[in-house]
Amino acid sequence: MPTVADVVAELERRYPPAWAEEWDRVGLVLGEPWAPVRRVLCVVDVVPETVAEALAAGVDMIVAHHPLLLRGVSSVAPTTYKGRIVHQLIKADIALYVAHTNADVAAPGVSDALAARLGLTDLRPLQPSRPGTPAAGSGRGIGRIGRLPEPMNLGELARHAAAVLPATTVGVRAAGDPNRTVRTLAVCGGAGDSFLADATAAGVDAYLTADLRHHPAGEHLATGGPALLDATHWATERPWLDDLAAALRAAPGVETLVSDLDTDPWSVHATSPAADDKEPDREG
Ligand SMILES: [Zn+2]
Repeated sequence: MPTVADVVAELERRYPPAWAEEWDRVGLVLGEPWAPVRRVLCVVDVVPETVAEALAAGVDMIVAHHPLLLRGVSSVAPTTYKGRIVHQLIKADIALYVAHTNADVAAPGVSDALAARLGLTDLRPLQPSRPGTPAAGSGRGIGRIGRLPEPMNLGELARHAAAVLPATTVGVRAAGDPNRTVRTLAVCGGAGDSFLADATAAGVDAYLTADLRHHPAGEHLATGGPALLDATHWATERPWLDDLAAALRAAPGVETLVSDLDTDPWSVHATSPAADDKEPDREG
C-alpha cells in the first residue's frame, strides 16, 4: 500500500519544492511519512468546509494549493482558527501537503490547466522563470500565453470563460471594449495583477486572472494594455486539481477525489436591474 512518503515523492518529482518562491511555504505540513494512504482529497484551500469534506470522505491525505501556515505561528491551540484545523487533521490521521508557487511555475502547472479549459494552444509562460533560478527551464514560469481556438470579441470571451471555468456565484467580469477582437490571451491562476506589465509587453489581446483591483486595472487599460478578464481566485486554480488527481492516481496508485466546494469568499452576487441597460453587448 502506498505511504505518505510515496505520495510526497511523486508530488516533489512534478513540483520540486526548490521551485517555490522564497517567501512561500510548501511541502509536508502534517502526517507521518510511513502512514498508509488509500485515498487523497485535492483542494485549493484548507478551510473548515474542505476539512469536513475530507473527514466525511475518509481520506488519509489532503493535497492543497494554498499553504495553511504561511506565516510563523507560536500556537496551534484548538481555540484558534488554524489550530482547530491542525487538531482535526491530526486526530483523524489525515496528512496535509502543500504545492503552491512550485506548482504555479511547473509545466504542466496551475496555469496550463486554466489555459486548457479555455482551449488555448501554442502555450508559453507569461513570465518565464529567470535563468539561474532553480525553476529555470523549458516552458516553466508564471502564467501562460496562448491562442484561442477562434477569434471572439471580449463580450463573447467573457461568456466563454464563465461557461468553461468552474461555476461561481460571481462569474467572470471583463474590462475594455466589449467589441474588441481577442485572438491571443494571457492567463494566470490566482492573483495576477503583478503581471499586468508582462501581459502588455507580450502584446496579447486580453489577460484573464483573478483579484484585479480598481486602480491598477484602470491605469493598465488607460495606457493601452490588453483587455482584462477577472474570474474568482478559486475558479482559476480549481482546474489544476484534476491534473493533480490524475497524476496521483497513475503514479502512487491512490484513489483521488477533487473538491468542488467553491472556497472563494464571495458567495452572493447582485446587480441592479438598471445595469442590464448598460451592457451594450448582451445577447438576447
Ligand atoms: Zn492562489
